[in-house]
Amino acid sequence: MRAAVLFLRSYLWAMTVQLKKKIAQRIFNGHPWIFNNEIEAIKGDVKAGDIVDVLYGDGSFAGKGYINPQSQITVRLLTRRKEEINDDFFLRRIQEAWHYRQKIGYTENCRLVFGEADYLPALIIDKFNDYFVLQTLSFGMDVWKDSIVKALQTIFKPKGIYERNDVPVRELEGLQQQKGFLSAQFDTNIIITENGLKFYVDIENGQKTGYFLDQQDNRRAIKHIAKGADVLGAFTYTGTFEIHAAHYGAKSVLGIDISVNAVEQANRNAKLNGLDNICHFEAVNAFDVLKGWAKEGRQYDMVMLDPPAFTKSRENIQKALTGYKEINLRGMKLVKNGGFLVTSSCTNLVSPELFLQTIDMAAKDARKKIRQVTFKAQASDHPIIWGMENTNYLKFLIVEVSGL
Ligand code: SAH
Repeated sequence: MRAAVLFLRSYLWAMTVQLKKKIAQRIFNGHPWIFNNEIEAIKGDVKAGDIVDVLYGDGSFAGKGYINPQSQITVRLLTRRKEEINDDFFLRRIQEAWHYRQKIGYTENCRLVFGEADYLPALIIDKFNDYFVLQTLSFGMDVWKDSIVKALQTIFKPKGIYERNDVPVRELEGLQQQKGFLSAQFDTNIIITENGLKFYVDIENGQKTGYFLDQQDNRRAIKHIAKGADVLGAFTYTGTFEIHAAHYGAKSVLGIDISVNAVEQANRNAKLNGLDNICHFEAVNAFDVLKGWAKEGRQYDMVMLDPPAFTKSRENIQKALTGYKEINLRGMKLVKNGGFLVTSSCTNLVSPELFLQTIDMAAKDARKKIRQVTFKAQASDHPIIWGMENTNYLKFLIVEVSGL
């Protein structure tokens, strides 16, 4: 309804945003964000969520997007074409995103829509087989929630759709945090299959959208080095990497996480796969125990680290880097000579180069020699658009570790 009203308003009174003459090359090259200081003039009585025509400084058409005068990112472009933004637009865009996933081999579980990388800024949709979890992270996208749900129903006839908008970033847009059903109610504890293993996904209360699909390819990357290994996995959450390690032939696996709830879920997942004889989980603080265990002389063939984003803001990058260095240093000290460190970082604020530098510094401080086995980003169902830094966020590194 609200979407229909907005559509009518923008149709009847063309609202335009004119960019400054000297615009950032970024916008011209396809980046969808327009910051407040890049705008020369706004014409019409615009309200948050309105669709506006964006014009270059010379008056030529740049694209259409939604506006939020309250947000630092004033306009996010939805299209570079003169097309109507309506139900049909969202149906087409989501269909395109789905075709792309199918083409590159992600059909059962995938990030169906990865925001800007799918030309749907601030929209996230995760597909867990027949269930869909969505996040609308900006005011202008939130307005179109009904159209998005309709599109999902048309394309997939899902068993359930759930909204996980319990995310603080929404408040910067003047939106409330909320979660709940966007379809008929369903049991939000579901089971998905990944790489031949089964995992419970708690759609309602799990972290983020319930499960980290972004590591789905990387979990396969440990296949060969896990064989016969004694494994330590820190920041285990639902035990996904650890259960993969056991599946690939690890001799013993210890997973740790600070959250008691995560450890419970990891135990359930190990049982679900008949790997609870190999996998054990403990609720402890990784920063505390890793140091102590290194001092005790514990050694593992493979140590895996998948910490949360240590920062969400640019001001705290240095603190985050200290955290990454510290945890990797401690992790490396626990690796047997010739064993492997499998390490990740999930914040786009730390660039791939900076991440590698940090690991290098950790190795030097730990008096270790490292040899790169593999260095990757997130799974390909989260496409990376060059020039859009926030789409290139996950770093996944495997190194062989030995003494100097
Ligand atoms: N490896 C997981 C994702 C990990 S998310 C996967 O592939 O699905 C990060 C996890 O780190 C969260 O579960 C959080 O509870 C845990 N965590 C945060 N701080 C921690 C700490 N200091 N020690 C141990 N675990 C921590």
